[in-house]
Amino acid sequence: MPTYPESNDEFLIKESFKCTSCGECCRPIVVVSEDDIKKIELTGLKRQNFISHDFTQKDINFQKLLNEVNKGLEILPEFQITLVQENGVCIFLKKDQNKKDQGHQGKFICSIYNHRPATCKNYPFIQKSKKLTDCRPPRWKYWAPLKILVRK
Ligand code: SF4
Ligand code: SF4
Repeated sequence: MPTYPESNDEFLIKESFKCTSCGECCRPIVVVSEDDIKKIELTGLKRQNFISHDFTQKDINFQKLLNEVNKGLEILPEFQITLVQENGVCIFLKKDQNKKDQGHQGKFICSIYNHRPATCKNYPFIQKSKKLTDCRPPRWKYWAPLKILVRK
């Protein structure tokens, strides 16, 4: 069985969607709200260990940003707050040790599943008006296999 099934109507509609845990959607940067951060902190983690600022926005005053970040990662209203990544993947994505490797990528789990941000919870049905054709990010096939990027 492939890690990601062929796209079909049953797979790509909300009522019958079954995520195959391929982990591909955990590569794009995840923007989080203060509510998301508080929810993750309930796991015992400290925000300075899992939040970052979105450096991809235009017109950023990098020096100001770095100065603020060095003060202790306070939330800056003019910048988006994001989850920290490692190797271009969310730090909370882990290999699923309980599942045998299926297909060329393997299976993955969210290590904060019950505390994951709203965006992750709603994914991939975020834009109600848009018909889903694939729940993986557009450039997934050009990236290195997740199983070599995610360590454990
Ligand atoms: S891309 Fe994300 S939502 Fe889609 S099957 Fe893979 S893990 Fe599930
Ligand atoms: S918080 Fe969990 S579901 Fe969201 S991107 Fe990270 S690993 Fe994926």
